[in-house]
Parts: sequence; structure tokens; C-alpha cells
Amino acid sequence: MAYDVIVVGARVAGAATALLLARAGLHVLAVDRVSFPSDAVSSHQVQVPAVARLARWGVLDRLVAAGTPPARAVRLDSGRVVLTGRYPAVDGVDALYSPRRTLLDAALVDAARAAGAEVRERFRVEDLVRRDGVVSGIRGRSGRGASVQELARLVIGADGKHSFIASAVGAEAYRSVPPRTFASYGYWSGVPLDGGELHHRAGLVAAAFPTNDNLSVVYVAAPLTEFGVARRDLPAHYLAGLDRCGDLGHRVRAGVLAERLRTTPDQPNLLRASWGPGWALAGDAGAVIDSVTAQGITHALADAESLAGAVIAGFGGTLPLASALAVRHRERDGRLRPMYDLTVRVAGLRPRRIDHALLAALARRPSEVGRFLGVLAGVVPADHYFTPRVVLPLIGSAAVDRLRG
Ligand SMILES: Cc1cc2nc3c(=O)[nH]c(=O)nc-3n(C[C@H](O)[C@H](O)[C@H](O)COP(=O)(O)OP(=O)(O)OC[C@H]3O[C@@H](n4cnc5c(N)ncnc54)[C@H](O)[C@@H]3O)c2cc1C
Repeated sequence: MAYDVIVVGARVAGAATALLLARAGLHVLAVDRVSFPSDAVSSHQVQVPAVARLARWGVLDRLVAAGTPPARAVRLDSGRVVLTGRYPAVDGVDALYSPRRTLLDAALVDAARAAGAEVRERFRVEDLVRRDGVVSGIRGRSGRGASVQELARLVIGADGKHSFIASAVGAEAYRSVPPRTFASYGYWSGVPLDGGELHHRAGLVAAAFPTNDNLSVVYVAAPLTEFGVARRDLPAHYLAGLDRCGDLGHRVRAGVLAERLRTTPDQPNLLRASWGPGWALAGDAGAVIDSVTAQGITHALADAESLAGAVIAGFGGTLPLASALAVRHRERDGRLRPMYDLTVRVAGLRPRRIDHALLAALARRPSEVGRFLGVLAGVVPADHYFTPRVVLPLIGSAAVDRLRG
């Protein structure tokens, strides 16, 4: 058999998985139908836990050397209160970064190659090879070239939310929620930011973060029900949304749109069975959520690490591969579900009275803001935070403060 593992898709999930498997000494082929550097329809907040992973893997230095600015402080404006704070640190990393996908994905691909993985660009997978019902390889082609077959002990689909591998193996979807938002984002010059900004309003979430080339990436999520009307003039709809976010609209209008506005209504929410005989899924291929909480890259990198760990354990004989992949599947769902549920709720774009009460309470307790930002960054599990034991004392003590004047 030619390879231990073939990884289909070589962006954040795929390149990271290939990197970690190759570093463990496995014989890895990663393929992608695009060539790198390549942009993606995605803004690119990389949350603190994912930045810590990139630092550990030796990839962060390249992003920093390319001038990717850190965002240590963040301002959350709900229209009623404004919270400012800093993200809690993970392994000494205390900043969110927003590297362009042209930079981040290429850095991971280069690191995978340097680790010994073979990376084949402009190679489209068109079919799976099966032996006795077990996936044992891929068939595909480079450009218009002849169809090529490659074999491996395991084929990993890291091929995104419309995964060919997931549909070819019939990976069952569950916990699926229909798309709730559409998202638009643009790159602006002349819109300086002091850290990151998040704006939550009824029917809207906006985010603004500094990115490469002295640009700011400014993102707006709006209800999918508005898309039909909005598409008549998407830039106007986007700017009108920003006008509802304090002075952000004014500041953006004073800047210059450096590249065309990108908009997508393609924002599914679903989890999939993540493994079967001869195959496994990583990143969006296995679990995709609305971009409103900016978690996809962070999930993809965590998922790559846990999948690589399971494969190394399985091939190394620590556990049978099937057991290792089953354990990893449960770990993935346990890790992702709190953020999945929070994201689906936030994507409803309808802040509840208790959300406003919590933010008002936090405004009176600045020392608590960091922990709350830690939930948004995925440092503090959402299901550990949004409990009566945590939230009610905060709201209660703020009410007492108010009564005392
Ligand atoms: C509008 C928007 C904004 C977002 N903003 C953020 C954000 O700020 N922060 C964040 O963390 N996440 C964000 N996300 C989510 C993030 O983009 C995804 O979660 C992330 O890209 C998933 O990475 P992946 O490697 O799993 O898949 P992808 O990035 O989708 O990569 C899949 C790769 O597979 C390749 N491929 C597919 N089919 C084949 C085939 N048959 N043969 C060969 N190659 C194939 C593709 O070419 C592609 O390169 C956003 C998403 C959207 C839509």
C-alpha cells in the first residue's frame, strides 16, 4: 500500500492533519483541487486556543513575520452596554489573530511539506477505491490529466462543508439546523482599530478585526430571511447594517473598500458521523456551524489534532484504529457541542432579555469580562458558563448594586 493516510483537502483541517501525521513519521499524501496560496470565502478570526496550537506547531512565527497584527483587547457593544476586555491566555498566548487565508492555509501546507507529507495541488478527487466495503484509496486527476489511483490505509476527508468524501461514504448527518444567516465581509483601508470589535443587535452581528496589509476585515451577519431583498444591493445592505453599530458605519464609510465585498448565504449547521471503515472526516467536512461566532478554523485545528492523535494511536498499536476513532468522535462532539449550540442560538440574531441582563451585569463587574470573552473565544466551555450557578449570581449582584445606587 503506497500511503498510510491520504488527506483530501489541504486547508486548515487537511494541511494541519497532514502536518501532524507526517511529523509522527507516517507516509502521508494530501491533495487539493486548488493551488496555494488560495483565498477562501471566509473571514479569518483565529481564536486564542487555535493560535496557541499554531504556536506549538511552529506556524505562528510565519504569520507574525508576515505582519499579521494581534488583537489582544476586544470591545463588545450590545447597543445597550459596551464591554471592553482582554482574552484569557492559553499556553502563554493571549491574542486572537486574523491572518488572510492566502497566508494561513499556505503556511500550513508548507509546514506539512516540510514535515515530509507529499502535497499534490490542483488534484481533484472524483471517486473512492473500496475493497470488501472498506475505503482503501482515491481516484482523481490533476487538471485535465488522466485519472490516477492512489491507495492508503485510511482516507481522511478534510474537503469542507460540501464534502465529497462525506457524501461518497454516506456519513450520517445529525443535529442539523437549517441556515439562519447570510454573511458579508470586506477589507477596508483607513479604518484603524484598537483591537477587535463585536457588535450585537437584534437582527445583526458585526465584527471588525485588523488583518494583514494594514487592512481591517469588517463582517456583518444578517437574517437569511433578508437575503432575497438584500441581494438587490448587497453593499448598501452591508453598510446599512454597520450604520446600526455605533460609529462603526461612519468609520467604515470614511475608509476605502480595498477588495470586492464577499457575501454568502451558504451557512449550514450540522454534525456528521466522523469515521467508518477506511475513512474519517476532519474540519467542516465532519462538523460545520454558522460563521457568526467565527469558530470554524479553531474547530478545524483542534479537530486535526484530535484526529491525528487517534490515527497515530491506531497505527501505533496503542488502540485498535476503530476504537481510537470512536473515542475521538465522542471527544469531538463533547468539545464542539456547547459552542455548536451557542452558535446556533447566536445565529438566530435575537438577543434574549437574559443576554441583555448578563451584559449589563458584566458592565458592572469589569473583572468578570475576561471570562465571558473566554467563552466567545472557546477558552471557557459555553456549557460551563451559561448555567444558573454562574449567570444568576452575576445578574443578582448587579441588581443589588443598582438598588444600592
Ligand atoms: C462568511 C464566512 C466567514 C467565516 N469566518 C470565519 C472566521 O472568522 N473564523 C473562523 O474560524 N472560521 C470562519 N469561517 C469558517 C471557516 O471558513 C471554515 O470553518 C474553515 O475554512 C474550514 O476549514 P476546512 O479545512 O475544514 O475546510 P475548507 O477551508 O473548506 O477547505 C476544504 C478544501 O478541500 C478542497 N476540496 C474540496 N473538494 C475536493 C475534492 N473533491 N478534491 C480535492 N480537494 C477538494 C477545497 O479545494 C478546499 O481547499 C467562516 C466561514 C464563512 C462562510
